[in-house]
Amino acid sequence: MGTRYGFIYAHPDDETFLSGCLIRQFADEGSSPVLLLATRGDAGRQGLERAADKSELARLREEEMKAAAEVLGLSHVEHLGYPDGQLVVIDFDALVAGVVSFIQRYELENVFSFAEDGGNGHPDHVTISKATTAAVLSGQCPSVRRLYYAASGTLRDQGHKPSIVVDTERGWPVKAAALKAHATQHVAISKYFGDLAVFPEARRWEAFVLGWEDGVMWPEKAAEK
Ligand SMILES: [Zn+2]
Repeated sequence: MGTRYGFIYAHPDDETFLSGCLIRQFADEGSSPVLLLATRGDAGRQGLERAADKSELARLREEEMKAAAEVLGLSHVEHLGYPDGQLVVIDFDALVAGVVSFIQRYELENVFSFAEDGGNGHPDHVTISKATTAAVLSGQCPSVRRLYYAASGTLRDQGHKPSIVVDTERGWPVKAAALKAHATQHVAISKYFGDLAVFPEARRWEAFVLGWEDGVMWPEKAAEK
């Protein structure tokens, strides 16, 4: 078994949007990447076109996530099951404890999450990013060597450069298949990626900035000095 990689996000589909090809790459290298989601994605308005209520939508999205996980080569997917859209109001320490327990269970070495701006500013994304950082810095996750944040506008403005960059052109059919598996999200997906049959040049790169390594925040900036 290779390096232990874990992805920690808010909603089913976040993993594919930001890191579908990276996850597949780790799986192809013989690692067993794992995913933790804080919510089941039960608040999506568009999802409710296809589900009678939130609990049916949660069940549907869990099924979709299973199908996407198979496409991406995720070996385990876990859900904390918090209500979608509510991460800001739930008990933050409990959220951190859930993340800590996930990291400990899989003895993760490399952890990936949103940047603190949540990428698109979604409050759930911002909150799970903060909880993941808090978990890694808590001293309770000694297996973790590195924490990576999905490259975002804010990180770029702060001068952080990505240290992991994946060109998705060759892997696009895999990423497109995982996106298709998240069928209830088709409106948001086509808004972001366009027609999945066509490689989206503007969404070509999956990129991650190294945020923390062996006790040092922003180690690459620290090394420049
Ligand atoms: Zn999301």
